[in-house]
Amino acid sequence: MKADPSVQRRLLELAGVDAELVRLAHRRRTLPEHAELTAAEEALRRAKDALVDVETRAGDLDRDIRRLERDVDAVRARTDRDQKILAGAGVGAKQAADLQHELDTLARRQSVLEDEQLEVMEQREALGMDIAHARRVLAEAEAAQAEIAQRRDAALRDIDAAEAGRRRDREQAAGGLPAELLAEYDRRRTRRGIGAALLRERRCGACRLELDRTAISALRAAPPDELAHCEECGVILVRTPESGL
Ligand SMILES: [Zn+2]
Repeated sequence: MKADPSVQRRLLELAGVDAELVRLAHRRRTLPEHAELTAAEEALRRAKDALVDVETRAGDLDRDIRRLERDVDAVRARTDRDQKILAGAGVGAKQAADLQHELDTLARRQSVLEDEQLEVMEQREALGMDIAHARRVLAEAEAAQAEIAQRRDAALRDIDAAEAGRRRDREQAAGGLPAELLAEYDRRRTRRGIGAALLRERRCGACRLELDRTAISALRAAPPDELAHCEECGVILVRTPESGL
């Protein structure tokens, strides 16, 4: 394939723009915010789980507290009733003894229930502090996640803007190039990642390999408008006075 040396040199401009587009795409994929966000989302999930866990335990204790209150109320009601009967007229000695026995049992039962109540309420109070702590951790995790997402979005907007600019540059660089040459360039770029490179001081600008004597002689002999390629990496090699030929 033939192309005027000045046209060939314009391929270098295009390759420069394409290299920037590749760098931008790489930057988009490897933003540190992606990994930070994954870690922040994991921390957020753990914080939510931890809060649900302590809230569930608190709910269980609240139910225990209500049950104990009902039990104590029932024992008190029974005690009141027994005391009223005992204080009333016409209670025989046998019934009075039975009532007294029951009152003693009820008093012991109430004492046990009240001890249990105290213990459960202490546990509930401690759990209240755990809940407050879990809520703080969750709020911090949410704020951290939001901050990273914001940073990532800003970085992505910057990349979007840079890419839009480079695409305009590309249109300009590719505009006016012969369609056949552009197709050849794009074919090589698709296959190798780079379409064209400058031959500088006998080295390929893409793979950096120095060309051997045979290749150099062939390039010297080739007409300037003949399209040259790197034998090693396959890019279009553009010759300029810097090429060392
Ligand atoms: Zn090469």
